[in-house]
Amino acid sequence: MCERLDLRGRIIIGAEGLNGTVSGTVDATEAYMVALREDPLLTGIEFKIDPSEGHVFPKLSVKHRTEIVRLGLPEMDDIDPNALSGVRLSPREFLEAMEREDVVIIDGRNGYEADLGHFKGAICPPIDNFREFPEWLEANGEHFRDRPILTYCTGGIRCEKLSGYMVKQGFGPVYQLDGGIVKYGKDTEVRGRNFDGLCYVFDERVGVEVNHTETHQIISHCRHCGNPEPRYGNCRLPECNRQIFVCPSCRESFGLYCGETCREAVTAAESA
Ligand SMILES: [Zn+2]
Ligand SMILES: [Zn+2]
Repeated sequence: MCERLDLRGRIIIGAEGLNGTVSGTVDATEAYMVALREDPLLTGIEFKIDPSEGHVFPKLSVKHRTEIVRLGLPEMDDIDPNALSGVRLSPREFLEAMEREDVVIIDGRNGYEADLGHFKGAICPPIDNFREFPEWLEANGEHFRDRPILTYCTGGIRCEKLSGYMVKQGFGPVYQLDGGIVKYGKDTEVRGRNFDGLCYVFDERVGVEVNHTETHQIISHCRHCGNPEPRYGNCRLPECNRQIFVCPSCRESFGLYCGETCREAVTAAESA
């Protein structure tokens, strides 16, 4: 169906449900939503819509996975997010809960996503993959095990699993932001308040605005000069390819590299 509608993007489908992002014309994306809503297996499926000029993905990928978001737990410990999950909070409830003094806010995404933007005061685990969460919680969870915990992620999908895992591990009470940062930013009442920086997205846009109030600010900085810089670029050394913040003027004078080591490796390869 996606091919017929000329949609592009990434879709993961499994027994837990379906999660994905696609781009296409208004007519095509509407036809896609109608078809999924009509499927009895996907009752209650939620969509978040962003306008954009043209496709934001280079191609289409639809894959089956045993877990929609992989925590990689042994089968007996696995969480069924449909059965066990943190209490869902609407954007407004989440904003109110964040203002309470006893809460702990946990960013349920990877470190490089949180570096671009996150909720004020959130703990942002320095992980590169969702599967590292159980280990991170094991090492750091004692400090907040019995406090009210607010979790959030991009679209609310990873948190269904993360919050369920935390409940099972005896944390809490555990709450999750329903619909994630994306829905929070679209809510006309909270207007993204308390979110600093941009929300990382896994398509060509990389970062999207969330906070539409006067408190919006850029929190990421050029790694060379320290000026505010909201655009990620990949280090030009292919073996490195790390996502880094380098401002336009440092890109021009130094190049898009992490540092001397990566730059010298490329210079040496070019002169060889
Ligand atoms: Zn700079
Ligand atoms: Zn590098």
